[in-house]
Amino acid sequence: MTLHPPPSSLYFPRRATFITYQPKTVLNKSKRADHWFWTRYSAYPYIGCQHGCEFCYCRERKYSPYDDPNDFAYTIKIKENAPELLRRALGRCPVDLVFTGDYQPLERKFQVSRRMLEVCHDLGFPVFVLERNPGVLRDLDLIASINQRAPSVVAFSIISTPDSPNYDRVRQIEHLAPPPEKRFAAMAQFAKAGLLTGTCMMPILPGMCDDDANLEAVVRWTADHGGKFVLASGLTLSDQQKNYFLGVLGQRFPDLLALYGTLYPQGSYSPAGGWQWPRIALKIRELCEKYGIRDRVPRPIIPTDKRALNKRIVERLAEKLYTLELANASSYRVWAYRKAAWAVDDLEQDIGLVYRTMGLKGLQGIESVGSSLGLEIERIIKELG
Ligand code: SF4
Repeated sequence: MTLHPPPSSLYFPRRATFITYQPKTVLNKSKRADHWFWTRYSAYPYIGCQHGCEFCYCRERKYSPYDDPNDFAYTIKIKENAPELLRRALGRCPVDLVFTGDYQPLERKFQVSRRMLEVCHDLGFPVFVLERNPGVLRDLDLIASINQRAPSVVAFSIISTPDSPNYDRVRQIEHLAPPPEKRFAAMAQFAKAGLLTGTCMMPILPGMCDDDANLEAVVRWTADHGGKFVLASGLTLSDQQKNYFLGVLGQRFPDLLALYGTLYPQGSYSPAGGWQWPRIALKIRELCEKYGIRDRVPRPIIPTDKRALNKRIVERLAEKLYTLELANASSYRVWAYRKAAWAVDDLEQDIGLVYRTMGLKGLQGIESVGSSLGLEIERIIKELG
């Protein structure tokens, strides 16, 4: 493996190079929505990111076109025909949530994100925008207009606050991105405009972000700025991205190398047994309850969607399966919920109609549902009215 020690970019940032090109496709489609962000489609305008967060998984070989991970923050490829490709592709797709938007500094000049949002607006597709840059405020009016027709989400990637014990360290790790206090201020503006907003606390860096004081600070700042959720996950490290990030730690925080060596031994992608997940996830859940927000993203649903009830039920089943995972339940139970959620998501008919015409037997007849989950779905239907 070629070793790529990180540059001293904290002190000597390079000048960025922009390369425009015309890809053949821009839209990634899934069979169904994921259970984290609820997105079914994704479409991005740029490859590479000027924010250059040192932990970014996009430096992994499978995502990055660059042999040298140092290039990721300084050589940015611009998909100049992305809006036209998106219009053509979405025109053939059922309406569902699109993961899109990228407000790194070059967006001010190239505006590909904005033009892609305009396509979603024209075609009535809801959007999920996840940002580390408050520059997304430029398009607040456009996103608010999309949101009026199709409920959307603007979330902010935030892993620390000025109240956090390791704030200075985290700022060095994401030093090219605007500070979190500006992201929180932007969150407050989106909340004021009626958008569903919150924090994606990703990734929680071991030894820097996983202490209770930081977890509470992030949840409290989110609630104080109108955020409705904190969605958290751990750090993954793979191939050249792992090599790069460990190089950053060795250069700036050598005291953490032993911890990371234990958590991410040779060949391991996610933290090994010693790390504190799910304790951290349960702590975040407890803190979210304390501050009146959620530890999952509420599923945005178009009220006129004939499958709105199906989507609400899927949301409940996914929440239950996450709870089971945190409780270390048997994988058999977890998979039973996952498969039932997928089956309800795949159902073309309104599940309410199925229940009204066929009763409990109709629910239990849905593939992968069976008798006990059929009863649970019946209970959810009654609860949702
Ligand atoms: S803002 Fe997101 S995409 Fe950009 S470098 Fe940071 S983690 Fe990666």
